[in-house]
Amino acid sequence: MAIDHYAVLGVERGADSEAIKKAYRRLTLQFHPDRHPDDTHAHERFRQINQAYDVLGDPRKRTRYDTQSRLSSGLDLAGVQPGQSPRDLLQNVFGDVFRSRRRGRRKGRDLRYTLTISLQEAVRGGPHEITFDALGPCETCSGSGTRPGGAPPATCQVCGGKGEVKGDGLFAPWTRCGRCDGAGMLQADACKTCRGAGKSRASRAFTVTLPAGVESGAQKILEGQGEPGRFEGAAGDLKVTVHVRPDPFLERRGAELRCELFVSLTEAALGTRVEVPTVDGAVELDIPAGIRSGTKLRLRGKGIPAKQGRGDQLVLVTVETPAASDPNVATALRELEERSALASALPKRSEQRAAFAERKKP
Ligand SMILES: [Zn+2]
Ligand SMILES: [Zn+2]
Repeated sequence: MAIDHYAVLGVERGADSEAIKKAYRRLTLQFHPDRHPDDTHAHERFRQINQAYDVLGDPRKRTRYDTQSRLSSGLDLAGVQPGQSPRDLLQNVFGDVFRSRRRGRRKGRDLRYTLTISLQEAVRGGPHEITFDALGPCETCSGSGTRPGGAPPATCQVCGGKGEVKGDGLFAPWTRCGRCDGAGMLQADACKTCRGAGKSRASRAFTVTLPAGVESGAQKILEGQGEPGRFEGAAGDLKVTVHVRPDPFLERRGAELRCELFVSLTEAALGTRVEVPTVDGAVELDIPAGIRSGTKLRLRGKGIPAKQGRGDQLVLVTVETPAASDPNVATALRELEERSALASALPKRSEQRAAFAERKKP
């Protein structure tokens, strides 16, 4: 016997055809693939439900099935199926003992959320309010699923609270109970608002507190703030993944922030003062006269907060060579070239050109 058709439909062995039809209708609605497009568990259940009804819904097939079940239960001891490990056997024989513990309670599902923040917000850290549609405790019944003032949930009569039903015979497999869908408990007096589920979808607000200097990809877990559990089971967690939006100017490297600052030929030669963005707002940076392209200047304490204090911001100075396509710029550059050709203006260049000329001599 592979699967217990009675257990799949969640009906007792002696159930009449009306009860079987009713269970079948209820379960096909509940597990219809259209309602669970990506849930393979639901697809498998739907298949089992149809298979079970194909047999139990037909009086002749049902009689044959019942006879076969009785026969195979007598043969079980002799016919241990290949592929069954000793643990499977123990599970089947002593399953009752192992299974009775986890009845009823079901942990709620986790919620996931991606929180996108700016680099400034990542450096600062602190609380963020996030709001999104999620399942939370039903407001009418506070998540119990029971109609206020109604009877509390009762143990499922079909599986006796185990959530699973064992077929006839010592080694017959266990099948998830179709009446309570494995919970072992049934909502006897369901809340009208949530139809006994204890959950309702609504816009919910959460507060996530991020550490200063949080990195992109970091995960923050808010325990017990996920979907509510069933039958007094614990709520799931809210798992927030942090995404730091790339900054157009500042790039993070560990505790350091790096940026590139372009200056003109004359700014590089004469020196200047430039306003540079930092995560704390703009600061004035002195570019010393005669700076070379590629020089790194350091803004102390403008980086990312870290264990050993706050990092720095490194400013890579790049001298932008002017494009000579503009005739006015070209004229000015030629004039500049003539004047700076003097050895005193560009001493290293003059020295090097003289050395090159010397090497060419035979
Ligand atoms: Zn409710
Ligand atoms: Zn049950």
